[in-house]
Amino acid sequence: MSEEKSLNFLEEIIEEDLKSGKYTSIATRFPPEPNGYLHMGHASSICLNFGLSKKFGGFTNLRFDDTNPTTEETEYVESIKEDVRWLGFEWKNELYASDYFDTLYAYAVKMIRLGLAYVDDSTSEEMATMKGTPTEAGKDSPFRTRSIEENIDLFERMKNGEFPDGSHTLRAKIDMAHTNMLMRDPVLYRIKHAHHHRTGDKWCIYPMYDMAHGQSDSIEQITHSICTLEFVPHRELYDWLIEKLEIYPSHQYEFARRNINYTVMSKRKLLQLVNEKHVEGWDDPRMPTISGVRRRGYTPESIRDFCDRIGVAKRENIVDIGLLEFCVREHLNKIALRRMVVFDPVKVVLTNYDEDKVELMHSENNPEDPNITHREIPFSRELYIEREDFMENPPKKYFRLAPGQMVRLKSAYIIRCDEVVKDAEGKITELRCTYLPESKSGNDTSTIKVKGTLHWVSVSHAVTVEVRLYDRLFQVEDPSSEEGDFKDYINKDSLQVVKSAYAEPALKTAKFDERYQFIRKGYFCLDKDSSEDGVVFNRTVTLKDTWAKEQQKA
Ligand code: ATP
Ligand code: MG
Repeated sequence: MSEEKSLNFLEEIIEEDLKSGKYTSIATRFPPEPNGYLHMGHASSICLNFGLSKKFGGFTNLRFDDTNPTTEETEYVESIKEDVRWLGFEWKNELYASDYFDTLYAYAVKMIRLGLAYVDDSTSEEMATMKGTPTEAGKDSPFRTRSIEENIDLFERMKNGEFPDGSHTLRAKIDMAHTNMLMRDPVLYRIKHAHHHRTGDKWCIYPMYDMAHGQSDSIEQITHSICTLEFVPHRELYDWLIEKLEIYPSHQYEFARRNINYTVMSKRKLLQLVNEKHVEGWDDPRMPTISGVRRRGYTPESIRDFCDRIGVAKRENIVDIGLLEFCVREHLNKIALRRMVVFDPVKVVLTNYDEDKVELMHSENNPEDPNITHREIPFSRELYIEREDFMENPPKKYFRLAPGQMVRLKSAYIIRCDEVVKDAEGKITELRCTYLPESKSGNDTSTIKVKGTLHWVSVSHAVTVEVRLYDRLFQVEDPSSEEGDFKDYINKDSLQVVKSAYAEPALKTAKFDERYQFIRKGYFCLDKDSSEDGVVFNRTVTLKDTWAKEQQKA
């Protein structure tokens, strides 16, 4: 039996709301602005919003927060939908804040009629000077006392395109001395003559975040509107507008943004990495985007597990990337097919093995799988092993291959190294070895115990593949808080390419939806750059946390 996890603070609130009968079911929404690709921070918000409605009964809407016409693109909308689905969630409705532009306009008119909004002709600079400071009250705008009729007329003319950008705004009439600066007559609508990705040129005035978000929540009857901590000061305005408009009372709850170390998680910064070509694109496997980690081979299961483990908090903190990698390894260990690939080969010649002989070695696809299946791996006289698995003058306790020393070749035989052949420069070109025929794996009668087991491939059967090895994109834990530009801290060695690695033949038919463990090398997946001309693999994650060990040594 798994241990019952205690509820987080949002779950406690919801449980209470259901118990008290305030709601009979709940509704949440995930509200991305379509101005970039989603990242792991969004993944945590997705898992939270969709997870809550799943757990407590109800639904989650996918709502594109597309009130800013100049930065939003359809490409982003499509990628966001793909990412949410890939994470394993299905929304009830696909909605756009722009769907509500007519309703929001009517709400604004209602505010004017209530005497709670006015058109201001002040420039943004003038407004800023009149705003005051946290310790000093602001000043009323000279346009604050306009009559309702005049405001109605001006607002309509704003909508009709009679005025240029920045010449007028619609502001709420609240209190210029309010202790919450956001309540000092916030701007509700601004003029922006810009083409919108969905409404085209219909509008030249657009609602501000505060005049759109809570109202959209209300229209959709969202019960729990969950956002990140920077919106805490907005809550008062959120509630004020809902109260004055007398619309469905959605409620806002805040949790801490999730960040991960050794990376950056802001669309603006990620866009810079893409535009300035520090990475190949939004889906570069080193990117913390959902499309990046997907291409890298992370699984939706492991990401959901990670988001679940980090949970929600009320205070900002940075989560260790090691925890994410741990979750990825945990899942991949269960599902990955074991394969052998030699990255940097040295040839082994078995002098007592017949030249034309080929044996098919039987090897488990995955020992963790309850229904174990096998594959066959061709074995012959000439093999490749990893160059680093041989040492001519080994230290004590070196259990790999060395002159006169024995090792087991995985799923095959025990071999002993008899002779080292070198070229004119002294580079080792061949290891002449003998194999022990009675030591065949599964039928070993040799009674010899060896401590090292090496991976190998048969030279004439091996397939050449490209392998891409990734490291952290940044050298420091929190690049955004360092001095200077965050891009100064990019790890220049974050990508290492092995142009020709030698793989066992089973990898010729590698599939995109399969995951592989290259024995002793890490977890890998097929990359989209693979073609008829060449197969490319990404290393998803190493087998153990080698980074931590390197850090200790340094
Ligand atoms: P960015 O700063 O990367 O542009 P954003 O908050 O502007 O992020 P939105 O598209 O507005 O991005 O966010 C959609 C939802 O995802 C919001 O509810 C937002 O609060 C949430 N979100 C964004 N980043 C994180 C994060 N790092 N951790 C948790 N939730 C996040
Ligand atoms: Mg935003």
